[in-house]
Amino acid sequence: MRQFQRFTNTIDFTMKKAKTKRKLIPRTRNAETLTESAYWGKIRSTLRSAFRYWKPMIIALNDASRPSKSKNKRLKKEYQCAVCEEWFKRADVQIDHIIPCGSLKCYTDIEPFIKNLTPEDPKAFQVLCKPDHQLKTNLERKLKK
Ligand SMILES: [Zn+2]
Repeated sequence: MRQFQRFTNTIDFTMKKAKTKRKLIPRTRNAETLTESAYWGKIRSTLRSAFRYWKPMIIALNDASRPSKSKNKRLKKEYQCAVCEEWFKRADVQIDHIIPCGSLKCYTDIEPFIKNLTPEDPKAFQVLCKPDHQLKTNLERKLKK
């Protein structure tokens, strides 16, 4: 019995702690199941995946490629990073929107987001190695603040 008492005390304590410490984020979307940021995240990732194989983007990727000089015969092509100018295999580069798509936190953000996401000019894209892409992303985040 005492063992049980100790157990319930612990539960009381952790529940109290959770109530006071955790700031509840209101679920304002989808019948109170989604927070604002989850809602906008869903829209963002859906749009991004819908335009993943945007042709001008693929053209930009091909423009930055050459036949592979690697000894590995299975690698047909390699890709040059626009920043460091080194050559990489496909898995080690990413296609960057030179003009960032921008934040997506309200309905008016949707228009510029889609316009920046789907430019017709292949020159709106650049191929970057992962470290250089990360550096650009970090810089953009810093500038936003
Ligand atoms: Zn690079």
